[in-house]
Amino acid sequence: MNSKSEKIICPACSSENITLIMYGMPAFSSKLMDEIKSGETKLGGCCVRDDSPDYTCNSCGKEWKKEEKLGKD
Ligand SMILES: [Zn+2]
Repeated sequence: MNSKSEKIICPACSSENITLIMYGMPAFSSKLMDEIKSGETKLGGCCVRDDSPDYTCNSCGKEWKKEEKLGKD
């Protein structure tokens, strides 16, 4: 019954030490501030572009998008 259990791993090095990059103006809650402090979440700026990554790996530094369009037209 837990649909929020998706584990994000780095596609390059399989690390689970991943930071979610947030764009726009998030609602600053104490939870969000804690996540930013602990490195779980990073603010990517106010403008999200088509090629803006969604995640960054803290182990190898790779950045990637949630839905990578692989070979899709
Ligand atoms: Zn990595």
